[in-house]
Amino acid sequence: MILELEGLRHRYGEELAIEDVSFGLEEGELLGLLGPSGCGKTTIVQAIAGHVRPTAGRVFLRGRDVTGEPPETRRVGIVFQRSTLYPHMTVGENVAYGLVSRDVDPDRRGALVEEYLELVDLHGRREAYPSELSGGQRRRVELARALAPRPDVLVLDEPLSALDRRLRRQLRGEIARIQRETGVTTLVVTHDQEEAMALADRLVVMNAGRVVGVDRPRTLYESPPTPFVASFLGRSNALPATVVGRHPLSVTLGGREVAFDDGPDVPAGTTVSCHVRPEDVSIHPPHVAVPGTDPVLSGEVRHVEDVGRRYDVTVAVETGDELLVETSSDPPAVGDRVAVALSGDRVTVFDDGSSAAETS
Ligand code: ATP
Repeated sequence: MILELEGLRHRYGEELAIEDVSFGLEEGELLGLLGPSGCGKTTIVQAIAGHVRPTAGRVFLRGRDVTGEPPETRRVGIVFQRSTLYPHMTVGENVAYGLVSRDVDPDRRGALVEEYLELVDLHGRREAYPSELSGGQRRRVELARALAPRPDVLVLDEPLSALDRRLRRQLRGEIARIQRETGVTTLVVTHDQEEAMALADRLVVMNAGRVVGVDRPRTLYESPPTPFVASFLGRSNALPATVVGRHPLSVTLGGREVAFDDGPDVPAGTTVSCHVRPEDVSIHPPHVAVPGTDPVLSGEVRHVEDVGRRYDVTVAVETGDELLVETSSDPPAVGDRVAVALSGDRVTVFDDGSSAAETS
């Protein structure tokens, strides 16, 4: 492990910011730390950087306990949410500054500045001042400055949140390329699930100061461990269902009895919630028999939104819930009666929000 956090807890006075946070980064890995505002991401970054001494728990870098050590002894490169470039220094001087503070031999500094400006595609802008660069270029200078001292870990704290959508996508690709080319172990901190999914090899999802899921992005998306992960990582519909049997778990949903390979171990009669993503629901004409064993509900179309590459259709179904359905063509009209079918093998069943199991 290059970086390992073990049971981190931090209090700001009475405020418990993080509790029992443990995860690690393997060499060369790009890990995404994802969670809503206020869940404790910045506190974790500060503990890794050495700006915050956690109330409890330990931080290891390459196996060495650095919890009590000051920031300058840690080989951690950080790009913060807001620009920290010195406006009175040129691009080259800004990048070199990170090398001075890391005691890099002065003879090597010039070559390293060149190398890293080239890596971020800014080799021609060495003499420019930050004010002469675009927002995206300034971010790339900061990446070069963080990378030039060859840190053990690169931490990117909400690196794209101040940029517009188009630039965010572009720079996201650049970060992925630079990480691949340098192989630097990287932690990307973000509240943007699309950004996290697109970039990360693995994701740590946080909520209210705690880690609530750690896995590959696709696995967390398809098999969310909690309702929070299901709804935070993309869009999710929740429908109540009644358990009619266990081992294997079966529930009645949409007038059909549906069996699952796996699920919470709860007695018959328990109400569970079944989560399904909008892309795993299909719309059919009413009163047409939908083949197979997938749950089918009838309902009325309440809302149709054309969002470009798809339509978002909201259907009020017989359970009293509203179901969001994605469809790529021929959307129904508001007021139409429809049948909606849930892909049974894409439904995740949760027991009152505390435990879950996937159905694959
Ligand atoms: P954001 O994305 O909004 O920056 P975050 O996920 O980074 O949020 P933190 O900034 O780590 O979360 O904050 C976690 C909790 O700790 C929040 O409830 C916050 O109000 C609290 N907190 C953070 N810094 C301090 C501080 N200096 N003093 C008191 N409470 C703080």
